[in-house]
Amino acid sequence: MTINLSTANEFIARHIGPRQADEQAMLTTLGFDSLQALSASVIPEGIKGTSVLNLPAGQSEADALASIKAIAAKNQLHKTYIGQGYYNCHTPSPILRNLLENPAWYTAYTPYQPEISQGRLEALLNFQTLISDLTGLPIANASLLDEATAAAEAMTFCKRLSKNKTSERFFASRHCHPQTLDVLRTRAEPLGIEVVVGDERELSDLSPFFGALLQYPASNGDVFDYRDLVERFHAANALVAVAADLLALTLLTPPGEFGADVAIGSAQRFGVPLGFGGPHAAYFSTRDAFKRDMPGRLVGMSVDRHGKPALRLAMQTREQHIRREKATSNICTAQVLLANIASMYAVYHGPQGLTQIARRIHQLTAILAQGLKGLGLNVEQSQFFDTLTLHTGNRTSALHAKAQARHINLRVVDDERLGLSLDETSSQSDVVALWALLAVDGQTLPDFDALAQSVTGTLPAALLRQSAILSHPVFNRYHSETELMRYLRRLADKDLALDRTMIPLGSCTMKLNAASEMIPVTWAEFGNLHPFAPAEQSQGYQQLTRELELMLCEATGYDAVSLQPNAGSQGEYAGLLAIRAYHQSRGEERRDICLIPSSAHGTNPATAHMAGMRVVVTACDARGNVDIEDLRAKAIEHRDHLAALMITYPSTHGVFEEGIREICGIIHDNGGQVYIDGANMNAMVGLCAPGKFGGDVSHLNLHKTFCIPHGGGGPGVGPIGVKSHLIPFLPGHSALERKEGAVCAAPFGSASILPITWMYIRMMGGEGLKRASQLAILNANYIARRLEEHYPVLYSGANGLVAHECILDLRPLKETSGISVDDVAKRLIDFGFHAPTMSFPVAGTLMIEPTESESKQELDRFCEAMIRIREEIRAVENGSLDKDDNPLKNAPHTAAEIVGEWTHPYSREQAVYPVASLIEGKYWPPVGRVDNVFGDRNLVCACPSIESYQEA
Ligand SMILES: *Cc1c(COP(=O)(O)O)cnc(C)c1O
Repeated sequence: MTINLSTANEFIARHIGPRQADEQAMLTTLGFDSLQALSASVIPEGIKGTSVLNLPAGQSEADALASIKAIAAKNQLHKTYIGQGYYNCHTPSPILRNLLENPAWYTAYTPYQPEISQGRLEALLNFQTLISDLTGLPIANASLLDEATAAAEAMTFCKRLSKNKTSERFFASRHCHPQTLDVLRTRAEPLGIEVVVGDERELSDLSPFFGALLQYPASNGDVFDYRDLVERFHAANALVAVAADLLALTLLTPPGEFGADVAIGSAQRFGVPLGFGGPHAAYFSTRDAFKRDMPGRLVGMSVDRHGKPALRLAMQTREQHIRREKATSNICTAQVLLANIASMYAVYHGPQGLTQIARRIHQLTAILAQGLKGLGLNVEQSQFFDTLTLHTGNRTSALHAKAQARHINLRVVDDERLGLSLDETSSQSDVVALWALLAVDGQTLPDFDALAQSVTGTLPAALLRQSAILSHPVFNRYHSETELMRYLRRLADKDLALDRTMIPLGSCTMKLNAASEMIPVTWAEFGNLHPFAPAEQSQGYQQLTRELELMLCEATGYDAVSLQPNAGSQGEYAGLLAIRAYHQSRGEERRDICLIPSSAHGTNPATAHMAGMRVVVTACDARGNVDIEDLRAKAIEHRDHLAALMITYPSTHGVFEEGIREICGIIHDNGGQVYIDGANMNAMVGLCAPGKFGGDVSHLNLHKTFCIPHGGGGPGVGPIGVKSHLIPFLPGHSALERKEGAVCAAPFGSASILPITWMYIRMMGGEGLKRASQLAILNANYIARRLEEHYPVLYSGANGLVAHECILDLRPLKETSGISVDDVAKRLIDFGFHAPTMSFPVAGTLMIEPTESESKQELDRFCEAMIRIREEIRAVENGSLDKDDNPLKNAPHTAAEIVGEWTHPYSREQAVYPVASLIEGKYWPPVGRVDNVFGDRNLVCACPSIESYQEA
């Protein structure tokens, strides 16, 4: 017997669901003899072979982990006091293990299907309650992308709501974090808003402004009393947003109590690793009167079919998928996983624990400041929370060098100032080390214990918080590890994520997030680096991002990639800004029309609006393709003002349109640029490349095609690839070579999850990536073929094949049986499945995207459920099931309903065990079908009091 001694790369076959024999069987079903033959039939002639992935062969999991470990080792973790919106903290171990590293949490999708999402909806409601409580404003959303983009959202929010309708000026305090000011400037420019940065203490006339942004405590550490200023802004008809530090708010009067209209900020220091800048959850809270204008997702209470309380996403009519260019923002993917970590940090520590952490940091900072003064240093703040600015004059550069030599990072404020912020991880010995660093040689250091006895807090008495925080039981119940562990398990058990079932959501690409890809994310070398640490310390990240950029250029056919955008929507925004700047650079600033096909994802028009463009919608033909003649007519009609086309490829209908080269040509001929939305890249990697068939710029969703998990609705990464002429207009950052045009707070956006994509590409190699695309296409066509005799497949390409997803048309069934897509989606829950995408891009349809990671058994299990459901619909059609009281209309069925009085004309078994295999392993939805209308009419967006639960 010979034993193979080579260490083969098994990863490709681990990532891909179907086994070799299954693949053959599926190909046979479709009438093909090879994967090559199938993809050759699917990809249109004109774009075939545009992708030749020039990537090394895939590495095994062990080898890739060793490679990335070596990269990680090049990051140096020095003691860091830089602050500026990013603070060291401890991720409590039970949250690390049971939430951040737990696929039940990180592989879930955005909770659009509330019946299978009650766990993460509850965690998000806790987040909203936490934010609302700490900021003193009644309505908080379920997260935004980062503090700086939240500030930009606050600016446009003030613009929409301010009573000063004629002003185009927004005041931003110079005490805001510099990265926030940079993103504000980027956002303001295309909208014609002028950001006036100044010192609020020197403002006399407030009438020019529609709104203002203040920072509390200020970026330099000062705690200012803004009460009078807010009143003056209000008297001038301006609205005021306050960027506030959540931990400081446990001790300070919250913005809502001193009149702020909006509070925004970061929840990073509530247990989320620094991660070189992200991902972290930002928050946004406001007054009740403004809730309908709020950006981002909002969780609200409603009731289910049985009148029991149930959670759901509220007021979706504000959002891009419904309101398109009139939406309150373009946010789609947000930061759910990180918001949940922050909310659980508060659940675990409780009000006393959080206050204690804040007091301790503040007291250490006060001792540090007192000691520094004793050493003769000039501490600029008399009232501060955790941050000091030292006027170090001509000692500045020498002190900075000395700090570097001792592996200590201070904030370099300017030539004469250094700053430092303490945090949850700071200790007595850190304070002493800082004294030693900043003292002149030979000086005697202060006596810590003596100072600790004598020093009192420095928070202004008038601003000490009087109101209680977090009195809801959820923040007072889970303070032992056992209780928290079980709470997290209980919530996860309410939900369906990829660890239980396929999630066949079209356009969302819910594929495997392999454990080997995830493991490096929580390594300290990636997790504990500050985004503004000196460049020498982030060599590992620099290598990782450089290599990843090159890999993504290979995959897309573009010349350069920016990793900064931290969601697909942000990538779209960065891409359109690049197009806008390109036109401007050629003296064609008049170009502001963005053509968008009617089938586009809602983020496209919402983004075009944010980028200051006018949206012109173009038609689709009866086969779901872009109506080329309509497009041509509109491109010609607007040829003098044409800025861009935004088009998704393969189309949102899941088809490789034959006309894509012609479409790109029409736009270019009329002076426009082509933005190809790359959310559907999972059908293309290794087969064709948007940068090679006409695109000027695309975003990718690394949280779709490139294996970053969805986290229940974020984090995401939305890098953009561009052709060479757009390279000068990629997003910059004060920490990068190009300084202008930051779209995110951190230079590499959500840097700490980039290892996931690096690992995926490294392990798959060029061949593996191509195979993944081919299998994604095979799986989708297999489902389409198995289901087409039961449900018509709405669109297919020239040869009857689909790309990586397929749309089932349920509209005819609605006519014959009264059964809607909603009923089918909810009935799938009884079978243990997450529904496909509903009514996008066509109302009354289901869009199924299986991805390459699902095995043939799982695809068959899903098809059998869909076929069984079709039989039930047929029974409704022929009258053997009641047209109103049937298993579809009543789905999903809860355990409580089954053990209660049974009045339905079908059996309990049919309700909950429609197929026998469910008896072995059944998912029980915790609530029945959720009433959407009730929730919006009776909006409750924070944890309700226990009494109201009991009344319900
Ligand atoms: C998911 C998606 C987007 C938006 O991406 P986010 O990361 O959620 O912001 C844009 N376009 C299409 C076609 C998508 O499927």
